[in-house]
Formats: sequence, structure tokens, C-alpha cells
Amino acid sequence: MKLNTCYNDLKTSYLFHDIAQRVAAYQKANPDKKLLRLGIGDVTLPLCGAVIDALHEAVDDQAGKDFHGYMPECGADFLREAIRDYYAERKIVLDADEVFVSSGASDNLGDILELFSKDNTVCVLEPAYPAYVDANVMDGRPIVRVAAGKENHFLPLPTDDLQADILYICSPNNPTGAVFTREGLKQWVDYANKNDAILIYDAAYEAFIEDESIPHSIFEIEGARTCALEICSLSKTAGFTGTRCGYTVIPKTLERDGMNVNAMWVRNRTTKTNGVSYIIQKGAAAVFTPEGQKQVQENIRIYKQNAKCLMAALDELGIWYTGGKNAPYIWIQCPDGMGSWEFFDLLLNEIQVIGTPGEGFGKCGEGYFRFSMFGSPADTKLAAERMVALLRK
Ligand code: PLP
Repeated sequence: MKLNTCYNDLKTSYLFHDIAQRVAAYQKANPDKKLLRLGIGDVTLPLCGAVIDALHEAVDDQAGKDFHGYMPECGADFLREAIRDYYAERKIVLDADEVFVSSGASDNLGDILELFSKDNTVCVLEPAYPAYVDANVMDGRPIVRVAAGKENHFLPLPTDDLQADILYICSPNNPTGAVFTREGLKQWVDYANKNDAILIYDAAYEAFIEDESIPHSIFEIEGARTCALEICSLSKTAGFTGTRCGYTVIPKTLERDGMNVNAMWVRNRTTKTNGVSYIIQKGAAAVFTPEGQKQVQENIRIYKQNAKCLMAALDELGIWYTGGKNAPYIWIQCPDGMGSWEFFDLLLNEIQVIGTPGEGFGKCGEGYFRFSMFGSPADTKLAAERMVALLRK
């Protein structure tokens, strides 16, 4: 037999391993020092009350006459309809069967690639969420990297010489926190339609957008229904990182090669999954109720307060950054020309603050650094104060 040798082409991700090692070594040498963790991309606030109530009720259903066995593979109608209605609030008209419930964005970001030939060229805007590259390396697809940088505010646009069949766009972006405007997204949509490409839009952080003018969904852009699919998650929106639920929107108008992508995904799901658990889908549906929306926005407000606190410190220090406003990440240029790891070590050793070195998200992340806003308000405030004291000239 033969194994998939493409796995040999995967770069071992040293980033989080290296961070953990350096942090563990520091903690061992300094057991009395409290670490302030602004590195993690995981949420810290618990699920909101509306979700917890719905989960409890669903557990009780499973104990009695409302027991549910197998769920529909593509998602329960009650949840698909709730998500359809959520989009309708933004004037995006979807059919419920254009919404597919998933166990989270990661699962679908990887699985969706089964629909695409391995000959396709993939375009990733770097710095990028590492799964886009790795999932395609596993399939052996060629990858072109479009480098983002300070000069384009980490929001690169397509150029005439770009040749790609699958495009990844993540907005609000992890790791940079940058958000595409309507005009920027329109250029990517036009590129995809003109070049017969498919755009995979990762909207995992859409709930953090506060500027009215910034699109929450690619389907707010004219032309997207013929070139895009959207992958979304309740992980950061509603604290579902450990509970697991997300959704993928595939318009029925998305066709390539004489094939319908929505129909292909129905065929894929009905073959390869037995759906997401009833209990979890009930909890997820509660996110889209008026009470659920109010409560998840309250949690997001707390994370945003963290961002405001750190941005005020960065402004005081005159450090360049992007993100923070419509996203739970702040991406800074390391001060005094420091490298990402040099800055990491400085913050760890001098003020016990942990962030994420930018080069872990692609070569052009070197010299940059990511702070996550998912930590506790008290730790974030202390981290901001210590950073000002350390870096003030
Ligand atoms: N997409 C982006 C950009 C992310 O940052 C993450 C998680 O951090 C995911 C997808 C994965 O989300 P999920 O927890 O739904 O798998």
C-alpha cells in the first residue's frame, strides 16, 4: 500500500510548541511570577445563559418523549432556518438548504476541499490562519502566497498576474485583525468570477464587526453567489470552542465545470457524516434568538473592552498596529525593529506577558506580533500597563 506522501511536505508547526516550551522554561525558573496570557485564540468567558438553558432542555428531551435519534446530515431545519433568518437581517436572502450545519469551521475548512480537484492552484493571503495552507499541502495542491504588509494595511488586492483557482479570504482576519471593505471584497469577487475561481470566505469573526460599512458576509457583495462559499463558526461568536458548532453557506447558484457545488456538498455530507448532535444544535439555535444575541454581544463587548485598553497603550507608545476595532486580535509592528521572537522574549522575561510571534503565520509576519483579546480584563489591563512602563522611552 501507499500512504499520502504529501504529508512529508508539511512544515512542522513549531510556533505553538516553541511558545509553550519557552513559557514552561520561564515558569520553571520563576515559579512565583504570574503570567499574563494574551497569546491564545481561545475564549475565556463561559457560554451565555440562553445557550445553557437550551442545552439543558435538549438533554431533557433526550430523556423522554422528545427523544431524537439521527439528525439530518446537513443540519436540523430549526437551526438552518435560524441561520437563514440571521442572514436575512442583513438583507441576505438564503434558502435554508443553502446553510449546512457543521461541528465548527475547522472541520469544514478541511473537508470542503474534497469537492475540488487536486490540480487547482490555491491562493492564500499571508499572514494567514495556518490551516488554509496545511489542508492544501496534505492534498498536494500548489499554493501561491500573496503577501500582505503594512503598505496595504494587511489587506492585499488581486493583481492581473495572479493565477489561482481557490482563494481564501478571512475577514475580520486572524491573525491581523484587519477587515476588508466592501470595495476590497468586490475586487476579489470580480476576480473569482472572471477567472472561474472559487472564493472560500472565512467569517469566523464576523460578530466582532462594529463599523456599519464593513460587510459581515461575502454575500453582501454583488456577484458573490456565483463564486463564493462562506464558512462560519460559533466558536468566537458565542464561546463554542469546546462545544463545537458552525455553519457553511453554499449558494445553489455556485457552479463550476457544469457541476453544482451545493448539490455536491449535500452528497458529501449525506455520505460522510451523520450530522451534529441534537443537543448541540439546540444550544446553537439559542444563539440566534433575541435573548441569545443580546447575551453573546455582551460577552463580545467585554473582549472589545480588552482591545480598547490595549489599543490605548499602543497609541500612547506610538506603536503601529492594525485590528482591534472590528476583531478580537491586534497585530502590531514590533518596536525598535525587533524581530517577532526577540519581542516575545522581551515581553515574557521583563513583564511576563505572552503574545504570539507574527512569523508563525507566514514569512511576512516576521517583525510583527499578535495579541489576542480573549484574555481576562484584569490581565489585559495589567499587561497594557506593564507594556507602557517597559517600552515608554
Ligand atoms: N477560522 C479562523 C480564522 C480561526 O481563527 C479559527 C479558530 O481559531 C477557525 C476558523 C476554527 O474555528 P472552529 O473552532 O469553529 O473550528
